[in-house]
Amino acid sequence: MGLYHCEGIILRTRVFGEADRIVTLLTKEKGKIEAVARGARRPRNRLVGVTQQFSYLRGLIFTGKNLDQLSQAELIKSFAPLRDDLLKMAYATWWAELLDVFLPLAEVNTEIFLFTLAGLVVLEQTPDPMLVSRAFELRLLRYLGYDPVLDHCVRCQEGAHGSLAGFAPVEGGMLCRICATSAGEKLIPLRPSALAELRALYAADLRAVARRPVDPTLGNELGRLLFAFIQWRAEKPLKSLAFLQSLLVWQEPSGS
Ligand SMILES: [Zn+2]
Repeated sequence: MGLYHCEGIILRTRVFGEADRIVTLLTKEKGKIEAVARGARRPRNRLVGVTQQFSYLRGLIFTGKNLDQLSQAELIKSFAPLRDDLLKMAYATWWAELLDVFLPLAEVNTEIFLFTLAGLVVLEQTPDPMLVSRAFELRLLRYLGYDPVLDHCVRCQEGAHGSLAGFAPVEGGMLCRICATSAGEKLIPLRPSALAELRALYAADLRAVARRPVDPTLGNELGRLLFAFIQWRAEKPLKSLAFLQSLLVWQEPSGS
């Protein structure tokens, strides 16, 4: 039992009881936590506006026997543009689901918190989030210790230029031409330029990525790889990914 202050971003909300909400928060102080916001579905409750998805808030948490409780909350940044734009909402929901699926509860990770916060600020402002999202996905994988092996063959370490045949999601990296023949699984082909882009995106500043013109062919090529890899790592269907992909298909110009 106790009481603490925290700063957090709401990754997810779900209805609870008659008028409550359970919020999943990515906090600076405690990592990912869940807390009940009592009365947060009553129109005149003071927690209504603050407990929307993606809200960045300063809160006071009571730790309880079963559920912690968000007892007071003050909005730092609402991130409303992420809820008002369907495509941005789809991307933000995708990021939130990744964080929710991959982060354990109550494990402090200030780096991931600050990176997510910075990422949402960039997402809010960028006209086309595709490459920003690829960079976010890659960096998050790296923070989680799941980064795909891109520099050499994941099986035999062969790394000579031109020797890599494609990406094997289940092996977690690139395979060389020799290993690929015995792999018995489908490889995702990757042009050398796309591979170079992937490596560069690891280290890229999200704000700099957001300023670059988006090449949709490249973005989709990297997306095929990252989505397959993340989906495999998650070991369960990711709802927000299906939604994001349906939007992207719908947005593609006809004939492409
Ligand atoms: Zn090999």
